[in-house]
Amino acid sequence: MTEAERAPAASGPACPTASASVAHRPPEGPGVRLTSGLLHDWQRRSHEASLPLALRQMEAAGNLDNLRLAIAGASEGYRGPVFMDSDLYKTLEAIGWELGRAPSPALAEFAAEATALLEKAQQPDGYLNSYTQVSGTPRYQRLASSHEMYCAGHLIQAAIAHARAGGGPALLGVARRFADHLVEVFAGREAGIDGHPVIETALVELYRQTGHEPYLSLARQFVDQRGRGLIGDSGFGLRYLQDAAPVRETAALAGHAVRALYLEAGVVDVAVESGDDELLASSVTRWDDMVGGKTALTGGVGSRHSGESFGDAFELPPDRAYNETCAAIASIQWSWRLLLATGESRYADLIERALHNAVGAAISTDGQRFFYVNPLQRRDDHFEEDDPGRRREWFSCACCPPNIMRLLASLGHYVATTADDVLYLHQFTGAAVGAHLAGGTLRVTMTSGYPWSGTVDLEVRGAPADACGLGVRVPAWSHGARFSVNGRPMAPDPADRGYLVVRRHWMPGDVLRCDLNVTPRLTYPDRRIDALRGSVAVERGPLVYCFEQADQPGGASVEDLALSPGDLTGHDTDLPGVGRTVTVRAPAVRLAPARDRGLPYGPEPDPADTGGPATAVAIPYFQWDNRDGRAMRVWMPWAGPPPSSGGDNPPASRDPDTAEIF
Ligand SMILES: [Zn+2]
Repeated sequence: MTEAERAPAASGPACPTASASVAHRPPEGPGVRLTSGLLHDWQRRSHEASLPLALRQMEAAGNLDNLRLAIAGASEGYRGPVFMDSDLYKTLEAIGWELGRAPSPALAEFAAEATALLEKAQQPDGYLNSYTQVSGTPRYQRLASSHEMYCAGHLIQAAIAHARAGGGPALLGVARRFADHLVEVFAGREAGIDGHPVIETALVELYRQTGHEPYLSLARQFVDQRGRGLIGDSGFGLRYLQDAAPVRETAALAGHAVRALYLEAGVVDVAVESGDDELLASSVTRWDDMVGGKTALTGGVGSRHSGESFGDAFELPPDRAYNETCAAIASIQWSWRLLLATGESRYADLIERALHNAVGAAISTDGQRFFYVNPLQRRDDHFEEDDPGRRREWFSCACCPPNIMRLLASLGHYVATTADDVLYLHQFTGAAVGAHLAGGTLRVTMTSGYPWSGTVDLEVRGAPADACGLGVRVPAWSHGARFSVNGRPMAPDPADRGYLVVRRHWMPGDVLRCDLNVTPRLTYPDRRIDALRGSVAVERGPLVYCFEQADQPGGASVEDLALSPGDLTGHDTDLPGVGRTVTVRAPAVRLAPARDRGLPYGPEPDPADTGGPATAVAIPYFQWDNRDGRAMRVWMPWAGPPPSSGGDNPPASRDPDTAEIF
């Protein structure tokens, strides 16, 4: 037995109760421990490089000092935006999940000191908010913008991380006292709703952790009270706050993206714990709305800078995309809950896309710098105050970095589920996975060089005496995926809804092999996305690619290249500043010289490609901006036939004899 298998199970957010109406559950028993591969490397980097940075920033930016001021009864000196406490809570949540995987004296010491500060700062009735306490602002009078319950929600989530990871009771005590106070003030009344959701999902999680029903009731009340003008005015309008209409009557996502998506996580939590199918269905409708016309190729969401909000359907400009990092993380949290509720692979598909691209790109290779805004194109002359185009070490509004850390610290939780004596694997990386099912424990070692390689081996290390199932997601992008058990081909059954499920008497040494097709491929946009018309992108496996100026042969400008038909080829390499990668070389043409003066419009179309053949080189989008800060673009002009003629990808077909699925 390896050290990884002896280690305690990964535990994580969103653990439904036994009575919850869900199709899948997190595995009981050993759980998941990431052991190798890209996702494991990201988790380790976050622990080793990002979290120490966060701990320093909690002092440098004033988060801890704000609590000290509250303890001292000070009335001035508060630093930062009103939600500074939430950055500390997200950092504490990350620490909680980290401590659940391995002891760390430095992280434990920080958590103990921060918890002691919180205990001292908490007021006798349970209220706790350093901004309100230092500024003397009346409680709950400006709920549209005060973030008081938003901060409470993150406190609760941090406390749950420590509780599920086996930590002491102190932080959970602080969180419960605050939650009990909220129940006392708000339950059964129309006393207001917080303008920034997260308290909803946090209260359901606290109910799951404690069994205390009033927390679930209050979460349900906050969801049901939306759309009735109880939040107040933040200056951005009701849509911004998801308060323009009742949740159940809303079909489209609108307004501030992070708020909208945190609310959806709470909506699904409330729905499954209440058996409220109508509420769940309304959330699925909005998920379809998001995926169908409001999601960037990278999985980023929230296209508008203005109001950090969703745009109209198909308003997805690559250069002006906002795509806040927190919104991608919230999208993952929502999709994870819908995956548990329904067992459908499309939710795991979107998690994979958002994780490997939108979230992956938000962190530098060294784990020390972060993106808040995640566009799909940067020009050489780009500058904008809220997005200078390069990652930064920290932000005056620092919601994103610790959000990344809490996600990566709990990443193993998003890899596997169980349902009906089947262990399902949704994400691919090196991992030790174990689950109690069929009266025993199924233990599997997942080995893969994913996403660089498409081969994933699932070796059974121990199995129940009775037959049970092992399921693996068939990614929607993987045309021609092949599967085998001990060398014998297997084909997915459509009834298994996007998974290959093999039910048998598993024996130690049995190997389920997945050969996913990671051949580089072209991707075309929907014709309704005006900003992308005539463009094409490159993907390989779960990775979206981008063309960065630094990689172009002969110094050709990425702005003067168009992709053309021909084979795309992958090249395993190590790039200085970037690290291990697979670059993709794509046939291209140099575009004719651009107009050099006057209006960028005229009576004739630009000439077709007259500059001659060229090669364009792409790297994974998650690895961009680790070098010289020059131009980057995901979407390139397409110089080939229109995609309606079949484009450059092989046509879809089905050949059951070779167990291929398309
Ligand atoms: Zn953020």
